[in-house]
Amino acid sequence: TKLPVLVTGGAGYIGSHAVWALHDAGWPVSVIDNLSTGFKFALPADCPLYEGDIEDAALLARIFAEQGTCAIMHFAGSIIVPESVARPLDYYLNNTVKSRALIAAAVGAGVPHFIFSSTAAVYGTPEVSPVAEDAPQRPINPYGMSKLMTEAMLADTARAHPLNYCALRYFNVAGADPQGRTGQSTAGATHLIKIAVEAALGKREQVGIYGTDYATPDGTGVRDYIHVSDLAAAHVLALEALAAAPTTSLTMNCGYGQGYSVREVLDAVDRVTNRKLVRQELPRRPGDADSLVSDNRRIMATLPWTPRYADLDVIVGHALAWERRLEDIRAAG
Ligand code: UDP
Repeated sequence: TKLPVLVTGGAGYIGSHAVWALHDAGWPVSVIDNLSTGFKFALPADCPLYEGDIEDAALLARIFAEQGTCAIMHFAGSIIVPESVARPLDYYLNNTVKSRALIAAAVGAGVPHFIFSSTAAVYGTPEVSPVAEDAPQRPINPYGMSKLMTEAMLADTARAHPLNYCALRYFNVAGADPQGRTGQSTAGATHLIKIAVEAALGKREQVGIYGTDYATPDGTGVRDYIHVSDLAAAHVLALEALAAAPTTSLTMNCGYGQGYSVREVLDAVDRVTNRKLVRQELPRRPGDADSLVSDNRRIMATLPWTPRYADLDVIVGHALAWERRLEDIRAAG
């Protein structure tokens, strides 16, 4: 049975891909989004959008009643590591305090299933790489800590109330819907692949490489890039797992288990575009780890998840196609 799902942050980058994945698979889906960084154009035309904040208890109660919500996928939040270092209290408000309000509303209304967008940033600088879920969680930036605190609230809440949850710890999410229906649309991008495709399309002069003295093979930061549509598919499967075992909660890494350096990512963009990006070597960025690569054995063993786009060039190709499409959308106003 396909339960009614409320997607918070559904007009945003990852949230909108989850909305399309649910929609394509026939789940009733509605969205709450304050449109601070999201866009209506990212959503299916027939998807109910509640414009507002997840800390608005009255709005949530109305949505739960109107939609018969049985599961929440919680994407709404702030996601930029260096910004979290500069403005920590904004991150604890948006990611921790507001998540607390949403969880309380879910408990109050008896919503039984909760899927949470967590992050590899909970691991800080892992001692062992690839990093598994039971590795020490010692975030090195407020972003990671704000997400870890929400994981802790969910764990305690699931012990005390009839709610089960799945915390998905994302590694570096990139790419766009292969059908071109949504993608990363936020202005002022800070994420590497987004910046690189903007530069490839002439929207930037060059790409800065933040740090060339990391403890990695070529000295630049290594990350595990996962295609956003594979990630969205994992959410739908996680929801099925929660519904099938209502007293079991899950915490799982979401990555392919393969790391690429900043230089390797820029080389992939050069391959896909058949051009050469201008690179500028810069100092390290605050809050960055050397290397973050997932041990993904748990998700592979727990969910029937088969990644379809685990290829850096495919990820870059889809990101580039969306970046072009975004130019048309913006031109059309
Ligand atoms: N990075 C870079 N130049 C950029 C943006 C990012 O060198 O313009 C590096 C960053 O230092 C990190 C990796 O690329 O090693 C991924 O950073 P991103 O911001 O995409 O994601 P994060 O891992 O911080 O969530």
